[in-house]
Formats: sequence, C-alpha cells, structure tokens
Amino acid sequence: MEKKVCKEHVEIALDIIVDETGEYPLLEELSTSEHVTCEFCEADATYIVSSKN
Ligand SMILES: [Zn+2]
Repeated sequence: MEKKVCKEHVEIALDIIVDETGEYPLLEELSTSEHVTCEFCEADATYIVSSKN
C-alpha cells in the first residue's frame, strides 16, 4: 500500500496507513523525474508514503 502526496497531505497519508496497518509507514521523497498528482488534492506529489508490507 502506498500513497503519493504533497507536503500538505503527508500527515493525513501517514495517519491513514497507520490506521490500516498498525505500523508506522515509510516516508520517502519522490524523485523529480516523476510527475504525480497528490491523492488528496491537485498539487504535485512530493512524497511517497508506503507500508512496509
Ligand atoms: Zn495534497
């Protein structure tokens, strides 16, 4: 499970994954070559939050 999000929505993505998996997720910066939209708004995603499994 992973969510690509902008800076504003990192906290929400972390909360959702913690809720669903019970574990603290990994947080990484997206590489700049990728062009991805945030899952929660129209901004460019800057982080990827992923569960370890
Ligand atoms: Zn966003």
